Amino acid sequence: MNPLSQLPSVDRLLSSAALASLSDVHGRAVVADTIRDVLAATRTAVKDGGTLPNESALLEKVGAGVTAKMRPKLRPVFNLTGTVLHTNLGRAPLPEEAVQALVAAARSPCALEYDIESGGRGDRDNVVDELLCELTGAEAATVVNNNAAAVFLLLNTLAQKKQVIVSRGELIEIGGAFRVPDIMSRAGAKLVEVGTTNRTHLKDFAESINPRTAMLMKVHASNYAIHGFTHAVPEAELAALAHQHDLPFVIDLGSGTLVDLAAYGLPHEPTPREAIAAGADLVTFSGDKLLGGPQAGLLVGRKDLIAKIKKNPLKRALRVGKLTLAALEAVLALYRDPDRLHLRVTAVRQLTRPETDIAAQAARLLPALRTTLAALPVTAEIVALKSQIGSGSLPVNRLPSAGFAIRPQGRKSGVLNRIEAALRALPKPVIGRIEDGALLLDLRCLQPQEEGEFAASLAVLDIRA
Ligand SMILES: *Cc1c(COP(=O)(O)O)cnc(C)c1O
Repeated sequence: MNPLSQLPSVDRLLSSAALASLSDVHGRAVVADTIRDVLAATRTAVKDGGTLPNESALLEKVGAGVTAKMRPKLRPVFNLTGTVLHTNLGRAPLPEEAVQALVAAARSPCALEYDIESGGRGDRDNVVDELLCELTGAEAATVVNNNAAAVFLLLNTLAQKKQVIVSRGELIEIGGAFRVPDIMSRAGAKLVEVGTTNRTHLKDFAESINPRTAMLMKVHASNYAIHGFTHAVPEAELAALAHQHDLPFVIDLGSGTLVDLAAYGLPHEPTPREAIAAGADLVTFSGDKLLGGPQAGLLVGRKDLIAKIKKNPLKRALRVGKLTLAALEAVLALYRDPDRLHLRVTAVRQLTRPETDIAAQAARLLPALRTTLAALPVTAEIVALKSQIGSGSLPVNRLPSAGFAIRPQGRKSGVLNRIEAALRALPKPVIGRIEDGALLLDLRCLQPQEEGEFAASLAVLDIRA
């Protein structure tokens, strides 16, 4: 007899009590589809000589299949990589105030382009432009999808078919295929490189200005540094030269923190306020890097130039949605209280978290980790680590941190990969890094309210042989 004739039907499995609650949660269609997939796979396996699974084994496969299919792809994870603003993990986690604002804007209609005072039409930039001007000293501001879009829109508006003069030392690539020369050509602007990789002087710029010049531009090369025999022209001098020729001077700041992070012991990053004060006519920066907000590109500067940019039809294509604006407004509002910034803006809090605090957390969690790993040929220790700021900030600027190093005993290094895979397979995956023969879990970004959840995850870790 053909063993496949013993296979239960789709209807029979679908009406099984074991799948009733899955059907309730996810709907019958998903469960029925998964049953068909499991039956098809079983037929193939049996034809290839496999044994026919019994009905409860089939039901278990269907259950696992439905759960896997319905699990969201964009799942929260524990970022224990040691890189705070990790682009692949969504950069800055939002402060609770921003999360609340975002949820409220998502749930009901909101005054996105509506002026509540007059009852007339509004402009979505009005949600944040006053705050941005207040925090940067600029005359006007606008917001687009990300900083790459901000730079693109700026160039396309002010330099199409014209020349943009940039120092050769600033023609940088940022991770994820943002290259200044590529953005420039796609925006329709002609790049004029001046100076050399290590040294650029004011006269290099002055000699390149001609009637086709649209602007002088500076790109803040945050992700690399050249040392030794170097020279870059100070912003104020470039601004003065541009203004002598009636040209705008623009700066792509990249990270663009709104406060001087040196006050918290972090490396100094130029702020938009400093750039404006030095004479920049337009400054662009990211919303989700050091600022600690949602993905966005912020443009601040001269009123007439911002007005031109807003009239470009591409602004409509690059605009942000209400969720972004709600979160951005809430984060910017926190900057009005600089004294408590390091407590309230999550990214700033994580970047400034003292090493002693992180080490104390590691000490609290070590027993749970050791219990989990007890049966494996590994050791787990608390170690001093160096976290990175991430998102194009200097890789040499490392923050003293603490965490766990899991090392194989003897030469069985495959065990580390198994632990790493098991951590990633958790309902809320734990993302660490393997470095120099150790699995490292940097606890800098483990938030206090996540500590219990993390410990509970360790307790259910399922490490496959
Ligand atoms: C990060 C960065 C960008 C790109 O910003 P996104 O917000 O990621 O689009 C552009 N320029 C500089 C200098 C940067 O550091």
